[in-house]
Parts: sequence; C-alpha cells; structure tokens
Amino acid sequence: MTSTETGNDIAAFRKRLDSIHARMAAACKRVGREPSSVSLLPVSKTVPLASIRTAIDAGCRMFGENRVQEAMHKAESIQDPDVRWSVIGHLQTNKARYVARFADEVQSLDSAKLAQVLDRNLQKQNRQMDVFVQVNSSFEASKYGLSIEETPAFVQSLRDYPNLRFCGLMTLAIFDAEEQEVRACFQRMSGLREQLRENVLSADARCDLSMGMSGDFEVAIEEGADVVRVGQALFGARGVPDSHYWPGIHEGTTS
Ligand SMILES: *Cc1c(COP(=O)(O)O)cnc(C)c1O
Repeated sequence: MTSTETGNDIAAFRKRLDSIHARMAAACKRVGREPSSVSLLPVSKTVPLASIRTAIDAGCRMFGENRVQEAMHKAESIQDPDVRWSVIGHLQTNKARYVARFADEVQSLDSAKLAQVLDRNLQKQNRQMDVFVQVNSSFEASKYGLSIEETPAFVQSLRDYPNLRFCGLMTLAIFDAEEQEVRACFQRMSGLREQLRENVLSADARCDLSMGMSGDFEVAIEEGADVVRVGQALFGARGVPDSHYWPGIHEGTTS
C-alpha cells in the first residue's frame, strides 16, 4: 500500500468518525444531554487489521469484538499498550481464561457461572476487569442476556467477585422493528438502571448503559445510552451475516 492510499483511507475513516460524532452530539442536544457524556465504542468484528490500524491512527483507542479467537488474534497482532479490547459477544466459560489475559472489558456478562470463572482467572492473572451485565430487553428467545427481573439480584451477587468491576448494563434492542419498539427496549433499560440505583447500588456507583448500534444509536442516546457500539456505520458493511454472530436470529437482518 502506498502512503497516498493510506492517507486516503485515514481521511475517509475520519470523515465517517466525525459524522458519527456529529450525529451523537445532535442526539444529545435533542434531549439536553452533554455530548461529552456519551462515548463511542468502535466495533471491529470482521474488520481487517489494516483498517483497525487506520482507526488507531485516527484516534480510536478501544475496540469491541464479538468472538474471543478473533479478538485475541487482533490484540496480539496490534500489540499496542494504549489500545484496549472489549468483548461484546456471548462468552463461553471455557474461553474465560483467554479473555482474562487480553481483554480490558467484557460487556456480555450473562451468567453466574461466567462471573465465577472470569473472576477466578483474573485472580490468577492478578488483574481486574470492567464488566457490563447483558440484559435481554426485547424478550426475544434468541437473544442472550438476563431477563430484566433477574438482573437486580445478579448485579448484587457481583459483590462476591472482587476482580470484576461492575460498570453497567448492555443490551441489543429488537431487530427489524418499528422505532417505537426499539425505543421501548432502551426505555426498559433506563427504568432498570433507576431500579438498580434505588435498590441495589450505592449512591455513587457507576451504572452506564451500553446500548445502540449503527441503526439505532441516536434513539439509544435519546433514551440514556452512555456508550454506543458502532460497527458498520464506521467500518463499512460486513460481508458476514449477523446470524454468524448471533445464532438464532434470521438471516438478512444486517444493515
Ligand atoms: C456487531 C455488534 C455491534 C455493532 O453492530 P453494527 O450494526 O455493525 O453497528 C454492536 N453490538 C454487538 C453486541 C455486536 O455484536
């Protein structure tokens, strides 16, 4: 690749990044929120290393990845101590020991068993990790995550795991739905956060909401998202159907 091509890549990436930040800021303004209070997690699943390096050159310092193998390979290849990796896809307990080594955050914590195994492996590594509890806010059987009803007790139980730092809740809204239904998912999450603040968390505890993707991040921000996870709007359309990452959903729901 010539330096000119690299320059074009960066310029094109910066343009998409700026455009997303502008849309995030506009969504914040509509509901009287401070734009700096919402952060963007670039989702780099299926994205080649060269594009991730371009994103790093453009200032990105954290990437969301869905699959452990892919994430680990990328983390090892990039080898940059300033770059952090967030696991956002369903995690099998037998992969927890790898995640404990390279990841800085897990957003898809969805079972007591996983919390236990992750904590134990982090202990061995003498590390702590930021965790978000994944909640199924759309009532779809195909989605991972705890039900809204079981979440408060689960969050409370995380106190038993000193190597997990509870940071908040993560959700995927219903796919292919009317905006009203998508918004209702995000509203359930805001309600759940209020409930946690009243009954489970200490007054100053962090409880961020990670919600919103390429197709719905503005609605998510309007309903209280603190982190939006954006892949395709930033890196371009994926060649792999979403069913590859989310078993159970029907094909063709990408984009
Ligand atoms: C892929 C993915 C995203 C980003 O989706 P885009 O449509 O590419 O923005 C967000 N969250 C999770 C959990 C994902 O797997």
